[in-house]
Amino acid sequence: MRTAFTEAFGVEHPVVQGGMQWVGTAPLAGAVSAAGGLGLVTALTQPTPEALVREIGRTRDLTDKPFGVNLTILPTIKPVPYDEYRHAIVDAGVTIVETAGANPAPHMDFFREHGVRVIHKCTSVRHAVKAQSVGVDAISIDGFECAGHPGEDDVPGLILIAAARRHVSIPMVASGGFADGRGLVAALALGADGINMGTRFMCTAEAPIHHSVKERIVASDERDTELIFRPLRNTSRVSSNAVSRETVELLAAGKAFEDVRHLVDGQRGRSVYESGDVEAGVWSVGQVQGLIHDIPTAGELVERIMAEAHELITGRLATMLEPVGA
Ligand code: NAD
Repeated sequence: MRTAFTEAFGVEHPVVQGGMQWVGTAPLAGAVSAAGGLGLVTALTQPTPEALVREIGRTRDLTDKPFGVNLTILPTIKPVPYDEYRHAIVDAGVTIVETAGANPAPHMDFFREHGVRVIHKCTSVRHAVKAQSVGVDAISIDGFECAGHPGEDDVPGLILIAAARRHVSIPMVASGGFADGRGLVAALALGADGINMGTRFMCTAEAPIHHSVKERIVASDERDTELIFRPLRNTSRVSSNAVSRETVELLAAGKAFEDVRHLVDGQRGRSVYESGDVEAGVWSVGQVQGLIHDIPTAGELVERIMAEAHELITGRLATMLEPVGA
């Protein structure tokens, strides 16, 4: 399948692996890129810029195909030396970066000077338009269904993708709610040039998280998420468990971030992925978990999605256009 995205980024399939905190490490990013998609190493998952350089090297050991690095800029408990991470990305020879969370403008001159192409992930049409105007190379438009931070507008992909396409002329992938070939075809029909998937790739053999977390995703349905941080305007969609529900209740009762910090700390969320105790902290997951029923390898998943999309386009959809009685 050729799209504006595959052409622009030199990948075989229009499938991007979302930049997930604690999940986007070399084994997963390398496997997705080796399978012909675009894998992303998540910068802030690495404790230091030096560790990021090493993780990029480990990814390169797994594939000689294109991969990128996700750099998310959102409120954090500890300040992040973004400049140093930016330099690490460039020093390690990475040429594709996904920015997310804030206006990419402050990073564009540096990335441009070093030949890096930028995909900006955002959750509204106005932010996509802004990113396009400051020179990013592609948009990843992220609907309300998504895991992690959906923004504050609550516009689901069915509307957001088509609305963004009216104003975005550069390649655009659709993010939030994608898990299979049906989703890919739907995204293409709405005007996107590919899809970005996070939760679906969490449920693959190579994702560096405990098997129990993958099993929880398979067992959950589309209703099993909570939106935390709503009153703080830093909304984040996470798995529904006792910790996330307590966080929602405390903030709804007027408590401040400091009062829930011990519940939501990313290090505590990380322990979920390491121990497999899905009640140990908050961890991001999308509504799309309701469409996830197995734990294939990343390569099997990408192949299956492409086969499903092909079958849907040339089979079920094409049949609808055949004359009656044909
Ligand atoms: P962290 O431990 O610093 O913070 C945990 C959570 O609290 C994060 O969601 C963060 O945005 C939020 N937070 C921190 N300080 C806050 C404040 N003063 N007010 C409101 N909210 C606050 O973060 P981490 O888990 O180490 O993650 C590192 C980065 O990755 C953060 O920027 C985080 O938002 C981001 N992240 C993104 C996604 C996603 O949507 N793809 C998922 C998880 C984490």
